[in-house]
Amino acid sequence: MRIAIYPGTFDPITNGHLDILDRAVKLFDKVIITIARNPSKSPLFSEEERLDMLREATKGHRNVEVDSFEGLLVDYARSKQAAAIVRGLRAISDFEYELQMALMNRKLDAAVETVFLMPNEKYTYLNSSIVREISRHGGDVSEFVPPTVRRSLERKRRMKLSG
Ligand code: ADP
Repeated sequence: MRIAIYPGTFDPITNGHLDILDRAVKLFDKVIITIARNPSKSPLFSEEERLDMLREATKGHRNVEVDSFEGLLVDYARSKQAAAIVRGLRAISDFEYELQMALMNRKLDAAVETVFLMPNEKYTYLNSSIVREISRHGGDVSEFVPPTVRRSLERKRRMKLSG
């Protein structure tokens, strides 16, 4: 069984992330989409909220598992017996950081390969922070995120406005 992990912040998950996931499930028997807990980031959505959105957005996928982890990605990958780490590459701007991470992870554990997948070009400009920004200002994000995320963003916005 070929297992891959797809790590990220997913604050929130977008159609760009889902595009990468759809490509990854064609290449692997199981893909674990997993939230990397990062104490230095202060996400808009709690870990529990992000997990719920991941579960809801991926419930049609049979070979996808949703999880979260703390610590070194390579340790987590090893604990899941994963053969690969999947990352999305949108543009040259992603490349330098991603190359650095991939080479460092290889140094830490040569057995785990990083695989880069390119999304459909319509998602190359899309990222979670742009989605959060559009939503914060009341813009329509329905083209960029699954319906469950659109509803969660709307709920957050209302809470912020009333609170
Ligand atoms: P991180 O905080 O680790 O960058 P993200 O949640 O932003 O986590 O993204 C996780 C992964 O998904 C990264 O590899 C990122 O490059 C990729 N990704 C994010 N948005 C897109 C997109 N629109 N198209 C393709 N890949 C994407």
